[in-house]
Amino acid sequence: MIEKHVKSGEIYIVSTPIGHLDDITERARQVLCQVDLICAEDTRHSGRLLEAIGSKVPMMALHEHNEAQKADSIIERLAQGQSLALISDAGTPLISDPGYVLVNHVIAAGYRVVPVPGVSAVVTALSVAGLPTDRWLFEGFLPSKSSARIKRFEALEKQKCTVVFYESSHRIEKSLEDMVLVFGDQRPVSVARELTKNFETVLRGTLGEVLEQVQADSNQQKGEFVVVLGGFVEEEKDLLTDPTIILLAKELQQALPPKKAATILAKVFGGHKRDYYNLILSFDHE
Ligand code: SAM
Repeated sequence: MIEKHVKSGEIYIVSTPIGHLDDITERARQVLCQVDLICAEDTRHSGRLLEAIGSKVPMMALHEHNEAQKADSIIERLAQGQSLALISDAGTPLISDPGYVLVNHVIAAGYRVVPVPGVSAVVTALSVAGLPTDRWLFEGFLPSKSSARIKRFEALEKQKCTVVFYESSHRIEKSLEDMVLVFGDQRPVSVARELTKNFETVLRGTLGEVLEQVQADSNQQKGEFVVVLGGFVEEEKDLLTDPTIILLAKELQQALPPKKAATILAKVFGGHKRDYYNLILSFDHE
């Protein structure tokens, strides 16, 4: 007997592959074969996926322009006891894709919204970027105009966590150029292109190096991209060679024991007490 993966009156938010068809999960396949109706962003595009997995379930087009309008008829179907699925062209619905308005309406109407998780380009890119993943910020798509993009970057200039952007082929070079303008050419970055597809490449290095590689090879400007940018790192000033600090340390040394002077210097300027202590002791040998 075939196990039933869906219940009536529920909507399943199903992740689909971002390239490699085998990345669909078994549960996603079952749900997409068993629901009564699939809401898809582009029915022609998703038709190919459904054919590949052997699903004959009918589809309804649901995109950002008709989402609010379709929500009522979808809720009506749930009320009748139908089970539904929502998919997008690739990856996880709602992640830079339609679905938020629908999910919000369905929750408000009191029906269950069930996740069927899988791939998303943002997490896939982070997993191979080689940059810190303990804290990250997803910024989605960047503005298409350079001036608006630069403004967005400026707001992120001192962001300490890793920042992830989605980008399309015709803008990758320009976006990287704008990043160099704001973040400088030394900031670490990873540009993941065509993940899980035949021409998958992941460039890693400083912004200056990666921009150079993208500019030198037009193939590196084709396809879909995730840009993973390393966070802002506060440069440690070399406190111990700062003339003002040295002068003050010498003055304090005249009036206070070295330990006390070192404590005060660390409190005022930051850094380690021990380093100031060693600095003060070094004066004795001058
Ligand atoms: N919902 C999708 C997800 O979960 O990742 C994102 C959809 S959004 C409309 C499409 C953007 O995602 C692309 O422009 C690109 O930035 C990124 N993307 C999707 N597939 C990708 C892939 N195979 N390689 C690199 N980036 C990809």
